[in-house]
Amino acid sequence: MKRHPILVGNWKMHGSRSSSVELMSSIASGVSMRPVDVALCVPFPLLQLAEETLGSSTVAWGAQTLSENEDGAHTGDVSARMLREFGCSYVIVGHSERRSAHGESDEVVAAKTRTALQARLTPIVCVGETVFDREAGLAKSIILRQLDAVMSTLDEVERERCIVAYEPVWAIGTGLTATPEQAAEAHGWIRSRIAEGSAVAAESIRILYGGSVKPSGAKDLFSMPGIDGALVGGASLISESFVAIAAAA
Ligand code: PGA
Repeated sequence: MKRHPILVGNWKMHGSRSSSVELMSSIASGVSMRPVDVALCVPFPLLQLAEETLGSSTVAWGAQTLSENEDGAHTGDVSARMLREFGCSYVIVGHSERRSAHGESDEVVAAKTRTALQARLTPIVCVGETVFDREAGLAKSIILRQLDAVMSTLDEVERERCIVAYEPVWAIGTGLTATPEQAAEAHGWIRSRIAEGSAVAAESIRILYGGSVKPSGAKDLFSMPGIDGALVGGASLISESFVAIAAAA
């Protein structure tokens, strides 16, 4: 089965009411003829604007995290049901910034993934090693530990419904990108591990690369086997850059 490429923008904590509508509209018109799935994961307060602005476009939208809990006494959290109500299709889970700044453990990331799936959201599950892990030769074991923690709690159908994003922590927002070979190698580890549980899931699951993706390196990256798209931070805030990456996908 041919996997359809997907490009996801991660706006992080950027964007204002006025600038966002312009950026969303410009991205939507720039990618409209591209044969690639596109989604923008925006801050919670911008979800309504995303629904209004992107609703009639080919661009989907989503959030950058969610609560693993159902609606209730969880101050400051946002539930999967709320995300659905604002038309989200996707939600990022386990981003390294959430793991490091909000103490999200592998178990919490797994719980969030299950909650997202139960609400019919597509979770974009982020995994990736730090520079220390890589230098210590631990990249593979860290990535697979993070992956196993999530996948071991899902059945085969649920696994197929996930997207995995390989994001080496040392490449996020640093301007340092993994080489296409490094990215493809890590994608290979991830897909082989998924194949151990289910060959069908391994064949159909989309695995994205994330970490300082820019238009300049995008073609080489996407030409590697097993790289099904990208999760893009900084470059998703500049319409021309994001559209150029979509053109390469
Ligand atoms: P970056 O962010 O493209 O700015 O490195 C990627 C991400 O954190 O998802």
